[in-house]
Formats: sequence, C-alpha cells, structure tokens
Amino acid sequence: MFRNKTILDQFSALETPFYYYDLDLLGRTLDAAKRAADKRNFHVHYALKANYNDRILEVIQSKGFGADCVSGNEVQKAIDMGFGADQITFAGVGKSDKEINTALHHGIFAFNVESIQELEVINTLAGQAGVTAQVSLRINPNIDANTHHYITTGLDENKFGVPNSELEKAASVLRACANLNLVGLHFHVGSQILDMNVFKSLCVKVNEWKTWFEDRGTYIKVINVGGGLGVDYKAPDENPIPDFEAYFDVFDRFLERNAQQEVHFELGRALVAQCGSLVSKVLYTKSGIKKHFLIVDAGMTELMRPALYQAYHKIERIGEYQKGTMLNYDVVGPICESSDCFGKEVELPISKRGDMIAIRTAGAYGEVMASRYNLREEVRYVYAQ
Ligand SMILES: *Cc1c(COP(=O)(O)O)cnc(C)c1O
Repeated sequence: MFRNKTILDQFSALETPFYYYDLDLLGRTLDAAKRAADKRNFHVHYALKANYNDRILEVIQSKGFGADCVSGNEVQKAIDMGFGADQITFAGVGKSDKEINTALHHGIFAFNVESIQELEVINTLAGQAGVTAQVSLRINPNIDANTHHYITTGLDENKFGVPNSELEKAASVLRACANLNLVGLHFHVGSQILDMNVFKSLCVKVNEWKTWFEDRGTYIKVINVGGGLGVDYKAPDENPIPDFEAYFDVFDRFLERNAQQEVHFELGRALVAQCGSLVSKVLYTKSGIKKHFLIVDAGMTELMRPALYQAYHKIERIGEYQKGTMLNYDVVGPICESSDCFGKEVELPISKRGDMIAIRTAGAYGEVMASRYNLREEVRYVYAQ
C-alpha cells in the first residue's frame, strides 16, 4: 500500500516523523473481532495501554468494546472517552491508593486483583468510601507463552497474579472481606502469542481453577482470559486482520462453562497493531567497509519496541522504485544510544537523503511508549479514513 505514488505526495507535505493511522483498517479489524466474539456471546475489553490515541479510542468505543485499564489515568481516560463504567476493568500489580479510589469513585465493573495484600487494601478503601468493590482474582497459571521473555507474564517467576500456593489463603481472605464481591477469575499469560496451543493450555488450567473454586462453594460468574493474541509483523499486507475466528474458537471449544457464565477477553495488540505505521525520512546515508547505514529522523523516542525487546518491524520504502537495485541497510535513528536501531541488514532500494520509509505494524505499543528523551518533539500523528 505504501508503494503508490499518491501517498508519497501526501506525505511529502508533512513534517516527519509521524504515526499514520489507517482508520478504515482499524474499523474492519474491530468488526471482524466483534463479529467473531458476538457469535459466541464473548465480551471483549480493549486494553487501552496498547494505544490510547483519542481517535482510535473513539472508534473502539463506538463499536461497543469495553475497556481494560492498567492505571488510574487510563480508567479516567476510558470514562472521558465514553466507555461505560460497567464496561471497565482495572488490572496491574501496583495500584496506588489514589488509583484505587479513582476506580471506586467511578464504580467500575471489576478490579483484577493481583495479590492478597491488594485485596485487603481495596477492601479497606471500599469500606471508607462506603461502596462494595467487584473484584476478579488474577491467578498466575504458570504457562509458558513461548514469546519473548519480556512479554511473558504467566510463569511462576513473573511478578503477575496470585501464585498457586497462595490461593487457599486468598479464598479465605475474600470471604472475610465484607466490602469485596468476587465476580470472577482473571488470567493473562503474555503477548504476541500466535500458537493457539498456548491458549488451549490456558483453557485447561482455567477449567481446573474454576472447579477448585466451585468445589469450595464459590460461584464464578466471569472467566476473564486476558489478551495476548499476536499479529503478523513479517507480512502486514498479506495478513492485516488477525484470525479472530480461530482464536475465539479455541476458547469456545475448550472452556467449560454454563449458559450464565460470561467469558471476557482483553485484547490490545491484535486490535490496533496493523492500523499504525511510523513514517520517517532518511536524513543521511553512510557506508562503512561492511555496513550501510540509513540514518532516519525517527528514533526509539517514537517507537521503542526494537530497542526495548529487539522486536521486529517490517521496514519499507514509500513510493515507487525500481526493483533490482536493493542494498542491505542498518536502519538507525538519531538518538544517542546504540540500541536506537529499527532493523539490521534490512533489504531496501538504494536510498538517498529525503527518501521516506514506513515502519509497519506500529499501532500497538508504539505511540504510547514515545518519550521526549533527548528533548525530542512531541510525537505527531495523522489519520487516513
Ligand atoms: C497488556 C495486557 C493486555 C493486552 O495484551 P495484548 O498482548 O496487547 O493483547 C491484556 N490484559 C492485561 C492484564 C495486560 O496487562
């Protein structure tokens, strides 16, 4: 799509770098997810942390998704953007008193609680506010998501959730907390997961925990299986929309539940990653003995994923070019850090100062992680309908 000349003409007038959001693709992706979920009576909360750009949130809210938040400010943002309080969940291992009070004030659907101590704190604060807090208990299922270790969250060694060994105690604390109402169980095993067997294993564990609680007389209304569905970073044009059918089908087939029990999901990346690209201009080219460098005007300050977890993003030239004149470049940014590199040995047409590139699949965990390190400009963005 970035090969056509019209888009180059449009972009040439804009100051780079900037995020380019394809709202048409976003809409089609959301529709596909919603259709596949509705069919099975599944509920999807969008994980705001993947991208909380206003227009993107507007579109997501208008399509009827709930909101999954990981800070008090995200809860407030979701409210401000029109998400219903009864559609908002709040997760995270380190919720401050202030953040908890914000969420209590708005009467959100549920806190996803990550430790016994947190249960006690929410109980106390809810008591002071004179309200009952709805909570889901986040259980660490000890599943290897087979993804990068920085984005694996469901292993015993990770900081997330209540470990197995503490469940008995958590259950008794819950019974003793008069201001808490347990609505469900929560799980989230990691991110960028493409192997459906991981989700199948998750279902097996979830069934076990649900039975464990039910055997002790605790009814579980909501089973929240988190997010984590991955996208195709290698081939964004061939696979712009993730296979939501296959994803939801795994849960439909393997999660044991009755007609009254609800299944909730918290998708982030899968909904927004492909609709965003980071557009940047070549500032300089440089050739060593073995290496060719493209020095571009975007850096880790605009898109941190490659520097933070060696993430791969497809990089392509914008506009038309002659095939057959390719060269392998290390594509690097201007920031004074060696990790400020978008890709090594990237095959691109021979480039010169002023050429434009698109760093694809940057709609999730891109703009939201931007920083002003090196006193860089505030990150810019444009939308295409
Ligand atoms: C980050 C996060 C998500 C979203 O993860 P994706 O991989 O973007 O789908 C969902 N739930 C929780 C608790 C999270 O921390």
